[in-house]
Amino acid sequence: MRRFFAAALCAVLACGLTACSQGGEQSADFYAMDTTMNVTAYGAGAKSAVDETVAEVNRLDSLLSRTRIDSVISQLNAGTANRAVGMEVWDLLSAAEKYSAATNGAFDITIAPVVSAWGFTTDHYQVPDQSELDELLTHVGSAHIHLGEESIVTLDNDTQIDLGGIAKGYASDCVEAILAKDGVESAKVALGGNIYVRGSKPDGSAWRVGVQDPENSDGFVGILSLTDAFAVTSGGYQRYFEQGGKRYHHIIDPATGYPAENGLTSVTVVAPGNEEETTGEPGHGTMCDAFSTALFVMGEEKAVAFWRSGVYSFQMVLVTQDGRVLVTDGLKDKFEQEDGSGYAYETISRSPS
Ligand code: ADP
Ligand code: MG
Repeated sequence: MRRFFAAALCAVLACGLTACSQGGEQSADFYAMDTTMNVTAYGAGAKSAVDETVAEVNRLDSLLSRTRIDSVISQLNAGTANRAVGMEVWDLLSAAEKYSAATNGAFDITIAPVVSAWGFTTDHYQVPDQSELDELLTHVGSAHIHLGEESIVTLDNDTQIDLGGIAKGYASDCVEAILAKDGVESAKVALGGNIYVRGSKPDGSAWRVGVQDPENSDGFVGILSLTDAFAVTSGGYQRYFEQGGKRYHHIIDPATGYPAENGLTSVTVVAPGNEEETTGEPGHGTMCDAFSTALFVMGEEKAVAFWRSGVYSFQMVLVTQDGRVLVTDGLKDKFEQEDGSGYAYETISRSPS
């Protein structure tokens, strides 16, 4: 009995607060990219995969953060000269440009100075003057980023970039590559609101991913049953401040310079794991992150039209301000409604009914 307690105590101590191992399960909780993260992996290779995941996300944070003064992005934002940023950053900027074009500018990393004007980079929140926003918006737009050869990037004067809407998604693509390299066949990764599930749970059932109720942090609008998939949620409830009785959140509509108010309270975008999973290039995780931000900006009508266009292959769950949950038909068998949530549920199909 005593030996049992000693062993149990050892396990607790060894587990510590941040990492844990139980019956082939390896797990780490960590903080990076301004948010809480968890990786849980099973089977042989899980231990090194978990360690490498934490190191990899921290590496990407140091590379892509705009609040860390020594990151490549901060250096790019500070300078006016051409800069060689390395192919990894170049590829990510190129993906960002592609998603900006695809979403008609709803996703736009050059929104950076506007995000700063609202105080979201310093936590000194304020409602900027319209004249200030008007001036800043003249520096917003993909045309102000020039992607040259040999990973040279040039930003026009007073243009800055913010990868906050895409970095966690890209990190999840990189984590998928690590898990694949280490032979992990079952894992769940939560980088803030960016989820990646690998394979199924060790018992063979699908992973369950809750879609949070934007109006109630303890509640869900439903549960997704997923295997080998990315699921990324953007919502105005994730980061905001209040002034004069009004709420201002961190997803900015590049068309107005104001927090997007287009009738949605959250957008979850779902896509399958990458086929070429060992490359670590921007893939479906990056796409889901860019699109969850963009579709939130677009609002219901444009988001549904964008999904119906079929140019990019993904599924989505939209939660509307007027109390509806819209689920695209590719998720019909994977989405479980939450009884008593108070929402009305609708399925969206390819052709308008
Ligand atoms: P979160 O970072 O909370 O997971 P998102 O992926 O939606 O949520 O990204 C929001 C972040 O992206 C903001 O904090 C800001 O840094 C940046 N951002 C805000 N508006 C836009 C936009 N329209 N396009 C691209 N990035 C944006
Ligand atoms: Mg995003």
